[in-house]
Amino acid sequence: MRLSGLVLRHFRNLGSQDLEFPPEGVALIGDNAQGKSNFLEAIYYLETFRSFRGARDEQLVGFGQEVFRVAGIASSSSPDHRRVAEVTAAFERKDGRKKVSVDGTEPERLGEALGRLAAVVFSPTDVDLVSGGPKERRRFLDMVLSLNEPGYLSALQEYKKILSRRNASLKEGYSGSVVMAWNQGLISSGSKVMWARKNWIEGGTQTFGDYYVRVSENARARMTYRPSVPSVGANSVDEIGEAIRGALADSSDRERRMGTTLVGPHRDEVRLHLERADDDLDLRDYGSGGQRRTAALALRLVEAWTIRKRRNETPLILLDDVFAELDQGRSERVLELMEEEEPGQVVLTAPKEADVKIKKDKLALWRISAGRITT
Ligand code: ATP
Ligand code: MG
Repeated sequence: MRLSGLVLRHFRNLGSQDLEFPPEGVALIGDNAQGKSNFLEAIYYLETFRSFRGARDEQLVGFGQEVFRVAGIASSSSPDHRRVAEVTAAFERKDGRKKVSVDGTEPERLGEALGRLAAVVFSPTDVDLVSGGPKERRRFLDMVLSLNEPGYLSALQEYKKILSRRNASLKEGYSGSVVMAWNQGLISSGSKVMWARKNWIEGGTQTFGDYYVRVSENARARMTYRPSVPSVGANSVDEIGEAIRGALADSSDRERRMGTTLVGPHRDEVRLHLERADDDLDLRDYGSGGQRRTAALALRLVEAWTIRKRRNETPLILLDDVFAELDQGRSERVLELMEEEEPGQVVLTAPKEADVKIKKDKLALWRISAGRITT
């Protein structure tokens, strides 16, 4: 997918601007704090309707403004460049209301409007996916799967709803039968979530390792699923469901004491390891800065690979000043890999023109200063 037009109205410091994008993409050059990341944040907002930097919607409204609005036209990346969808998003500070539309129609659920740009954003903060706690990696999984796996988002939302009610019952010390009344729903939604996670991780670890080794030129890395429910050998949603059922039964006394649900996808972990002859190293605990950044890049590349494979789309690649912190060998190999793997539209930001090393001579050079873009 590619972006052909973008309308900005008071998103962060970006003011009011209407932009047309060339098919190959854009390199946006600007000094620190001029609005480069804000610009990519605005584009990616049309993919997920939230900030990729984890900011609340209120923070995205331009200072002194009441409402922000972003609209984009997504076009096919095939040679005909046919217009596929117009996506709009608006947020009003006063009532905290978010309004989303696709081709002028508001979807009944936000989930139906997700993923129209088929975009992936690479950012220096991605290193938190590797260095951060299990929650960061669960959030990443949930985002990738919500966008690429039909039914995942609704199963996850259902799971979260039931989990919070079940936790409330446990906290208030209700009898076992009241708590257990939630089990069936927890099991049926939770097993779908876990099954999708297991398949994605197990199906993607080879690709993750291939990307990692291409960039690092030495060790291989892999990712493994560590569910909170032992489900070794579980080969279907139903078998995972049975594993959750068993684990809930085993932990019911402990749950009453702790007042919370102790097993299920909300306790899952994804591990990223460096493979070594004797034993594997957990990148979170032992990885160097460069190794972690490489693993984070590899995760994003697997995300783009997922879009190609599952949605049969060429991803729109958003690069937020990302190669700054890799050594020269690694950054050259990442660029080589990207040129090969990502033939689609690229929108990147960099402080200096000399930092534009991907699709050189093909990208339009735009500049940004105090939120104003000149094309
Ligand atoms: P760097 O190169 O340092 O990463 P950048 O160009 O990516 O810089 P951004 O993060 O895009 O910078 O923009 C930061 C600027 O946007 C800051 O000056 C900040 O004050 C401003 N800003 C952030 N939120 C808002 C908002 N809601 N309204 C107006 N300005 C905002
Ligand atoms: Mg920035």
